[in-house]
Amino acid sequence: MSDGRFYLTTPIYYVNADPHIGHAYTTIMSDVIARHRRQRGDDVFFLTGTDEHGSKVAESAAAAGRSPREHADLLSERFRALGTELEASNDFFIRTSDAEHEQVVAQVLSRLHESGDVYKGSYGGWYCTACEAFYREEELLEGRMCPIHRTPVEWLEEENWFFRLSAYRDRLLALYASEAPFVLPETRLNEARRMVEEGLEDLSISRAQIDWGVPVPWDPDQVVYVWVDALFNYYTALTYARPGEDLVERFWPADLHVMAKDILKFHAVIWPALLMAAGMAVPRQLFVHGYVLKGGEKMSKTAGNVIDPFPFIERYGIDPLRYYLMREVSFGEDGVFSAEGFEARYTGELANELGNLLNRTVSMIGRYRDGRVPSDPGDDDELASEVATAVSAFCREMDQLALTRAADVVWGLVRRLNRLVEERAPWTLAKDPDRARELDQALYSLAEGLRAVAVMLSSIMPGSMARALEALGQPGGAIEMDVAGWGNGVADAVVAPTGPLFPRIEDEE
Ligand SMILES: [Zn+2]
Repeated sequence: MSDGRFYLTTPIYYVNADPHIGHAYTTIMSDVIARHRRQRGDDVFFLTGTDEHGSKVAESAAAAGRSPREHADLLSERFRALGTELEASNDFFIRTSDAEHEQVVAQVLSRLHESGDVYKGSYGGWYCTACEAFYREEELLEGRMCPIHRTPVEWLEEENWFFRLSAYRDRLLALYASEAPFVLPETRLNEARRMVEEGLEDLSISRAQIDWGVPVPWDPDQVVYVWVDALFNYYTALTYARPGEDLVERFWPADLHVMAKDILKFHAVIWPALLMAAGMAVPRQLFVHGYVLKGGEKMSKTAGNVIDPFPFIERYGIDPLRYYLMREVSFGEDGVFSAEGFEARYTGELANELGNLLNRTVSMIGRYRDGRVPSDPGDDDELASEVATAVSAFCREMDQLALTRAADVVWGLVRRLNRLVEERAPWTLAKDPDRARELDQALYSLAEGLRAVAVMLSSIMPGSMARALEALGQPGGAIEMDVAGWGNGVADAVVAPTGPLFPRIEDEE
């Protein structure tokens, strides 16, 4: 968050299974941040993509009767399609099977090798193929089960190349002590610190028994461990996302990596250590979000309780899903996704509180003022200052990545405007010509307040808020945050009545 440029990433998604609501959640939250930073005037680079190597992908491919490449092509396309459905505004979509990525991974691995912190050794450990990770005996669940997947792990032993992760203890602890927290929320920072304090084992960074991966440059019989290959995507993407442009110079290191809590260790411990070894700058901050739960359990293919986001998008459009997730799942904590909860917020908040308010406002301006917003803002100082307070509180919460609290701030203003309709009762004012000025002021205040709401919510519901601005007589309206405040918009605008923003969805049964 410095010098006006902002580089943020989602994790790259592993193509061993179809996308589910957990992936959608990470992408949506990251996209809200990216769009908001653009509204603040930052030069933003937003990266997402797919992680395609490793034995799990090779196995899934074999099980489906495909080559790893065919399998990766197919699944990667589904993740790309999900991003499009979600209206993710990413600037690039990286695939770790891209030749450009593989070349740069090989270069960086050579630098790591030259650092002296890579050595050959033999390693045996309990391995979960789904995690692509080794576990210590004491980390396993009863019956030697993976703590994440609750499936049996296997004993794996081979000659590999190792990274001397154990040598980075002090440097990592110093990183965690830096003034701007390296990891948010703080509980996750503490968790990373504990992992390091409890002692780090060196990391096996190559695999001998598979060939679906990036060959180790100095030992082509082995491939680079899929996680090391994957983590470096955040760097390699900048080298080829825009041919002819040096994005590394402009955007490295990343300002923000967003991820779910199950991959904290890879990002908070292993990733910065690898970068330090390669002589590269470490990212400025990680944000670790919780799980989107269904009935108290993390969704996973293995557990068989996966929510498919596509039917929700088909039925309601994308914006209500973006809104619901932001509002319902407190960013940084676990939250529960339920169809009932979704419908309750859709009807109660989006259709009734926001959609109706906009419709009533636009139709009253039509009826009482021939469709033109009064040009004189009057002296509604109280509401003007409430809007200013809401806009600055919203930006402050967004800066702290308190996305759910930011949405609460906007909703407080929506409710305030609904009360204002009842208090001022424009339909009563309209009957008395002596109160024309009061009516002007009420209509102006409602329209201008709604414009501020629409600008703030643009990062969350881009399509619907563009329509709302159009209804308020601001087609292609400016959404920069510095015009969100009072007095920058609606005076004298000609409103354009529109259909309901969030139409009632009839039950199909
Ligand atoms: Zn696992």
